[in-house]
Amino acid sequence: MPAIFEKINITLKTYCKAYKFLKQQYSPERIKQIQNEKLTRLIKYSYENIKYYREIFDANSIKPKDIRTIDDLQKIPILTKKELRHQSWDFLPKHLPPCRVSRTSGSTGQPLCLFSDTNSRINNSAAVIRYRKQLGINLLGSDILTLLKTENDPPKPPHWTFLQGVHKTYYINPYSQTLADIDYAARTITKLKNPAIIAITPAIKALAYKIKDSKLPPLKPSAVLTTGECLSKKVRNLLEETFNIKVTDIYACNEAGDIAWQCLAGQHYHINAENCIVEIIKDNQPAKTGHSGEVVITNLNRFAMPIIRYKNGDLAKLTNQKCPCGCQLPLISEIIGRTGEDILLTSGKTVPWNQLKSYMTHQKIRQFQIVQNEDAAITVNFTTESDADIPKIKTLLKSRFRSALGPKIHPKFIAVKNIPPAPNGKTKLVISKYKHHDNQYGA
Ligand SMILES: [Zn+2]
Repeated sequence: MPAIFEKINITLKTYCKAYKFLKQQYSPERIKQIQNEKLTRLIKYSYENIKYYREIFDANSIKPKDIRTIDDLQKIPILTKKELRHQSWDFLPKHLPPCRVSRTSGSTGQPLCLFSDTNSRINNSAAVIRYRKQLGINLLGSDILTLLKTENDPPKPPHWTFLQGVHKTYYINPYSQTLADIDYAARTITKLKNPAIIAITPAIKALAYKIKDSKLPPLKPSAVLTTGECLSKKVRNLLEETFNIKVTDIYACNEAGDIAWQCLAGQHYHINAENCIVEIIKDNQPAKTGHSGEVVITNLNRFAMPIIRYKNGDLAKLTNQKCPCGCQLPLISEIIGRTGEDILLTSGKTVPWNQLKSYMTHQKIRQFQIVQNEDAAITVNFTTESDADIPKIKTLLKSRFRSALGPKIHPKFIAVKNIPPAPNGKTKLVISKYKHHDNQYGA
């Protein structure tokens, strides 16, 4: 089929699927039934066609008929980032359907190619249309403002996008300091009447600071959707103050697609449960509802590269509460993204990344990055508000770090102008390059 007809065909199927999604308010029982039906099909297919799953099932004496419901899933060993990266070819079937291939760079520098078939992309786009509609982004004709991910991203002219609605999408670079880029961004902001901003969290944060510092004119969006990085309370407040609108966060990962989304009525995340199963695991057992544990995802639609029980490195909590919006999809109450690596000291002591992160809490610190170099020396770079008392902040940080690292380790604290994001647009808050540190959590 010529490419253009194939594209039209996929677009039409996406919209049909999306309308079905929008019309239905499935009961929790029906959602479970859909999940179980899809799961049974996926497991059978994966055992018959995918080397990795056949080997792991055989090694654990699991037969496809043993896995029929979500509760049975626990019999399958968890898939880690390391296995997916190292054995990625073992996740592909012999006869690969037409696919789109996306490459993730990851902070470990080891790239991973992800293969997604048409059916899984249609289902994912339909779920995107569903939440966008709920968040006030119409299917037709909305202006969307998207922010480029790094300072060096080449400029992109505005263009029409078709798959997740028919929208005109504009791009600006929130990091660039060049006059031409800032001028272009200012003109775009002035021209756009109430666009929906959809971008990764660090990029929206950079845009908000540029507006706050009067480097760019104010902007009144009709919706603000963040994604790609855990949205902290501080950043949420900054965005809601800057744009004067409730921010909604979208939880997605490259390996599993769009997982969950916040609506305008509540704070919880609605799981796209027709497309994926989210388990929260603590010590290899399901965590109690309301307790935090590791996120384990099964994508129910992707047959080109099945992702079953994949631990993505984030922590989260489930809840049984109901959302005031009336939507009956299951809910995640909190997502605690893994935005750093633990640091191993030469003494053998491990300092968890979230402990180090907590030491950087200060009203005048905008951004920071803690780096442990190859020789185990630690450098802390940070940016501040223009009126910050930097010597005072350094003294405070020194005393906080001494309590965790001991008196023999002297981190360097450096106030910098900016901290550039990694090639994937995200900023890791704690990076360890110390060679004894075996990092299993590449982004
Ligand atoms: Zn809701």
